[in-house]
Amino acid sequence: RGSCASDSSDSVISTGSETDSQVHKVVLLGEHGVGKSSLARVFGGVEDAGHDCDEAGNTYDRCIVVDEEESAIVLYDMWEQDNSQWLKEQCMRMGDAYIIVYSVTDKSSFEKASELRIQLRRARQSEDIPIILVGNKSDLVRSREVSVDEGSACAVVFDCKFIETSASLHHNVQDLFEGIVRQIRLRKDSKEE
Ligand code: GDP
Ligand code: MG
Repeated sequence: RGSCASDSSDSVISTGSETDSQVHKVVLLGEHGVGKSSLARVFGGVEDAGHDCDEAGNTYDRCIVVDEEESAIVLYDMWEQDNSQWLKEQCMRMGDAYIIVYSVTDKSSFEKASELRIQLRRARQSEDIPIILVGNKSDLVRSREVSVDEGSACAVVFDCKFIETSASLHHNVQDLFEGIVRQIRLRKDSKEE
Protein backbone atom coordinates (compact mmCIF):
# COMPACT_ATOMS: atom_id res chain seq x y z
CA ARG A 1 0.00 0.00 0.00
CA GLY A 2 1.76 3.15 -1.17
CA SER A 3 2.31 4.63 2.19
CA CYS A 4 4.42 7.74 2.39
CA ALA A 5 6.12 6.71 5.51
CA SER A 6 8.45 3.80 5.51
CA ASP A 7 6.73 0.80 6.96
CA SER A 8 7.19 1.49 10.59
CA SER A 9 5.54 -1.50 12.17
CA ASP A 10 7.86 -3.26 14.55
CA SER A 11 10.86 -1.39 13.29
CA VAL A 12 12.13 -0.46 16.67
CA ILE A 13 15.68 0.58 16.16
CA SER A 14 17.98 -1.61 18.07
CA THR A 15 20.81 0.13 19.80
CA GLY A 16 21.75 -2.79 21.95
CA SER A 17 20.27 -1.56 25.20
CA GLU A 18 16.90 -0.36 26.47
CA THR A 19 15.66 -0.03 22.92
CA ASP A 20 12.08 0.95 23.58
CA SER A 21 12.74 3.81 25.90
CA GLN A 22 15.02 5.38 23.34
CA VAL A 23 12.42 5.79 20.66
CA HIS A 24 10.95 9.21 21.26
CA LYS A 25 7.38 9.89 20.23
CA VAL A 26 6.97 13.38 18.84
CA VAL A 27 3.45 14.61 18.04
CA LEU A 28 2.52 17.40 15.62
CA LEU A 29 -0.36 19.67 16.63
CA GLY A 30 -1.89 22.65 14.88
CA GLU A 31 -4.71 23.94 12.76
CA HIS A 32 -5.48 22.61 9.32
CA GLY A 33 -3.29 24.03 6.57
CA VAL A 34 -0.40 25.34 8.67
CA GLY A 35 2.07 22.85 7.21
CA LYS A 36 2.22 19.94 9.65
CA SER A 37 2.23 17.30 6.94
CA SER A 38 4.74 19.27 4.90
CA LEU A 39 7.12 19.47 7.84
CA ALA A 40 6.62 15.78 8.54
CA ARG A 41 7.45 14.88 4.96
CA VAL A 42 10.62 16.93 5.02
CA PHE A 43 11.57 15.20 8.24
CA GLY A 44 10.78 11.80 6.78
CA GLY A 45 12.64 12.60 3.58
CA VAL A 46 9.66 11.73 1.41
CA GLU A 47 8.67 15.19 0.40
CA ASP A 48 9.02 14.79 -3.33
CA ALA A 49 7.65 11.29 -3.53
CA GLY A 50 4.52 12.58 -5.19
CA HIS A 51 2.20 10.69 -2.92
CA ASP A 52 -0.87 12.34 -1.62
CA CYS A 53 -0.70 11.71 2.08
CA ASP A 54 -3.24 14.22 3.22
CA GLU A 55 -6.01 11.90 4.22
CA ALA A 56 -4.35 9.28 6.31
CA GLY A 57 -2.57 9.81 9.53
CA ASN A 58 1.08 9.18 8.98
CA THR A 59 3.99 8.28 11.12
CA TYR A 60 7.60 8.76 10.17
CA ASP A 61 10.47 7.16 11.92
CA ARG A 62 14.00 8.21 11.56
CA CYS A 63 17.27 8.14 13.37
CA ILE A 64 18.86 11.48 13.74
CA VAL A 65 22.34 12.27 14.90
CA VAL A 66 22.54 15.26 17.20
CA ASP A 67 25.74 16.26 18.94
CA GLU A 68 27.36 13.05 17.77
CA GLU A 69 24.74 10.92 19.43
CA GLU A 70 22.00 9.02 17.66
CA SER A 71 18.34 9.28 18.60
CA ALA A 72 15.34 7.48 17.22
CA ILE A 73 12.27 9.61 16.61
CA VAL A 74 8.79 8.60 15.61
CA LEU A 75 6.90 11.59 14.32
CA TYR A 76 3.10 11.42 14.44
CA ASP A 77 1.12 13.45 11.92
CA MET A 78 -2.33 12.34 12.96
CA TRP A 79 -3.92 15.27 14.70
CA GLU A 80 -6.34 15.76 11.83
CA GLN A 81 -6.77 12.13 10.90
CA ASP A 82 -10.38 12.20 11.93
CA ASN A 83 -12.40 14.43 14.15
CA SER A 84 -12.91 12.09 17.03
CA GLN A 85 -12.35 13.48 20.45
CA TRP A 86 -10.84 10.16 21.40
CA LEU A 87 -8.03 10.51 18.91
CA LYS A 88 -7.26 14.04 20.01
CA GLU A 89 -7.08 12.95 23.62
CA GLN A 90 -4.88 10.08 22.56
CA CYS A 91 -2.53 12.53 20.85
CA MET A 92 -2.40 14.69 23.95
CA ARG A 93 -1.47 11.72 26.07
CA MET A 94 1.00 9.78 23.96
CA GLY A 95 3.75 12.24 23.10
CA ASP A 96 7.17 12.47 24.68
CA ALA A 97 7.44 15.85 22.99
CA TYR A 98 5.19 18.18 20.98
CA ILE A 99 5.51 20.44 18.00
CA ILE A 100 2.74 23.04 17.94
CA VAL A 101 2.58 24.58 14.48
CA TYR A 102 0.94 27.76 13.26
CA SER A 103 1.32 29.63 10.03
CA VAL A 104 2.91 33.07 10.15
CA THR A 105 0.42 34.03 7.43
CA ASP A 106 -2.60 33.14 9.53
CA LYS A 107 -3.32 34.92 12.78
CA SER A 108 -6.12 32.58 13.76
CA SER A 109 -3.81 29.58 13.53
CA PHE A 110 -1.52 31.44 15.94
CA GLU A 111 -4.39 31.89 18.38
CA LYS A 112 -5.25 28.24 17.97
CA ALA A 113 -1.68 27.34 18.88
CA SER A 114 -2.14 29.05 22.24
CA GLU A 115 -5.31 27.08 22.83
CA LEU A 116 -3.50 23.86 22.06
CA ARG A 117 -0.73 24.77 24.47
CA ILE A 118 -3.32 25.28 27.20
CA GLN A 119 -5.07 22.01 26.38
CA LEU A 120 -1.77 20.21 26.48
CA ARG A 121 -0.89 21.69 29.84
CA ARG A 122 -4.24 20.55 31.17
CA ALA A 123 -3.85 17.04 29.81
CA ARG A 124 -0.35 16.55 31.16
CA GLN A 125 -0.46 18.72 34.26
CA SER A 126 2.45 17.70 36.37
CA GLU A 127 4.69 16.63 33.52
CA ASP A 128 7.43 18.73 32.09
CA ILE A 129 7.13 17.83 28.42
CA PRO A 130 9.29 19.40 25.73
CA ILE A 131 7.28 21.64 23.44
CA ILE A 132 8.37 23.70 20.47
CA LEU A 133 6.15 26.41 19.06
CA VAL A 134 6.71 26.61 15.30
CA GLY A 135 5.83 29.52 13.04
CA ASN A 136 5.82 27.89 9.60
CA LYS A 137 5.68 29.45 6.11
CA SER A 138 8.33 32.04 6.94
CA ASP A 139 9.04 32.25 3.20
CA LEU A 140 5.72 34.02 2.60
CA VAL A 141 7.03 37.43 3.63
CA ARG A 142 4.37 39.52 2.00
CA SER A 143 1.41 37.76 3.55
CA ARG A 144 2.84 37.57 7.04
CA GLU A 145 0.31 38.24 9.82
CA VAL A 146 2.34 37.16 12.85
CA SER A 147 5.72 38.74 13.55
CA VAL A 148 8.75 36.91 14.86
CA ASP A 149 8.47 38.95 18.05
CA GLU A 150 4.87 37.91 18.63
CA GLY A 151 5.84 34.29 18.13
CA SER A 152 8.75 34.36 20.52
CA ALA A 153 6.82 36.38 23.12
CA CYS A 154 4.11 33.75 23.04
CA ALA A 155 6.69 31.02 23.56
CA VAL A 156 8.05 32.86 26.61
CA VAL A 157 4.57 33.09 28.10
CA PHE A 158 3.94 29.43 27.44
CA ASP A 159 7.35 28.36 28.61
CA CYS A 160 8.36 26.55 25.47
CA LYS A 161 10.93 26.86 22.68
CA PHE A 162 10.26 28.74 19.48
CA ILE A 163 11.46 28.56 15.91
CA GLU A 164 10.27 29.82 12.53
CA THR A 165 10.47 27.40 9.62
CA SER A 166 9.70 27.09 5.97
CA ALA A 167 8.78 23.57 4.98
CA SER A 168 8.79 24.69 1.35
CA LEU A 169 12.37 25.93 1.48
CA HIS A 170 13.45 23.36 4.09
CA HIS A 171 14.54 26.31 6.14
CA ASN A 172 15.16 25.51 9.83
CA VAL A 173 13.42 22.15 9.59
CA GLN A 174 16.57 20.27 10.55
CA ASP A 175 17.13 22.72 13.42
CA LEU A 176 13.60 22.13 14.61
CA PHE A 177 14.08 18.40 14.96
CA GLU A 178 17.54 18.73 16.45
CA GLY A 179 16.02 21.13 18.97
CA ILE A 180 13.39 18.61 19.92
CA VAL A 181 15.99 15.91 20.45
CA ARG A 182 18.13 18.20 22.62
CA GLN A 183 15.12 19.12 24.75
CA ILE A 184 14.17 15.50 25.22
CA ARG A 185 17.71 14.69 26.30
CA LEU A 186 17.86 17.59 28.71
CA ARG A 187 14.68 16.50 30.48
CA LYS A 188 15.87 12.94 30.62
CA ASP A 189 19.26 13.88 32.04
CA SER A 190 17.78 16.09 34.70
CA LYS A 191 15.46 13.28 35.74
CA GLU A 192 18.33 10.84 36.03
CA GLU A 193 20.50 13.12 38.11
P1 GDP B 1 -1.42 20.60 7.35
O1 GDP B 1 -2.89 20.70 7.11
O2 GDP B 1 -1.04 21.30 8.63
O3 GDP B 1 -0.89 19.21 7.30
O4 GDP B 1 -0.69 21.45 6.21
P2 GDP B 1 -0.03 20.93 4.85
O5 GDP B 1 1.34 20.40 5.11
O6 GDP B 1 -0.98 20.05 4.15
O7 GDP B 1 0.15 22.30 4.08
C1 GDP B 1 -0.94 23.10 3.70
C2 GDP B 1 -0.57 23.95 2.51
O8 GDP B 1 0.46 24.88 2.85
C3 GDP B 1 -0.02 23.13 1.35
O9 GDP B 1 -0.47 23.68 0.16
C4 GDP B 1 1.48 23.29 1.48
O10 GDP B 1 2.14 23.18 0.24
C5 GDP B 1 1.59 24.70 2.00
N1 GDP B 1 2.80 24.89 2.82
C6 GDP B 1 3.22 24.11 3.86
N2 GDP B 1 4.36 24.59 4.38
C7 GDP B 1 4.68 25.70 3.67
C8 GDP B 1 5.76 26.65 3.75
O11 GDP B 1 6.68 26.58 4.56
N3 GDP B 1 5.73 27.68 2.84
C9 GDP B 1 4.74 27.81 1.92
N4 GDP B 1 4.81 28.84 1.08
N5 GDP B 1 3.71 26.94 1.82
C10 GDP B 1 3.68 25.90 2.69
MG1 MG C 1 -1.91 17.39 7.16
